[in-house]
Amino acid sequence: MGAGRADNCWVTTQTLTFAAARSRAHGPTAALWHAVEVHRAPVDLDGACELTVCGTLARVTTEQHWPVVATDACPACTVQAR
Ligand SMILES: [Zn+2]
Repeated sequence: MGAGRADNCWVTTQTLTFAAARSRAHGPTAALWHAVEVHRAPVDLDGACELTVCGTLARVTTEQHWPVVATDACPACTVQAR
């Protein structure tokens, strides 16, 4: 194995690896943006409740893209989904 370019082989310009999903506020916990791993177009998941990277349920939206620019992103998802 030489110093190849294998680290570029899975990078595509169209396919998103993660979609942004919004959890609901739950008691003292504010609503947060989470990442949902997607293997198809996020449009297909728009509005669906999916399991997030950090293991909670959140509603996928195409109005935001992961990583979100908002400051209220889930810390666990931020670390794991990048
Ligand atoms: Zn999360």
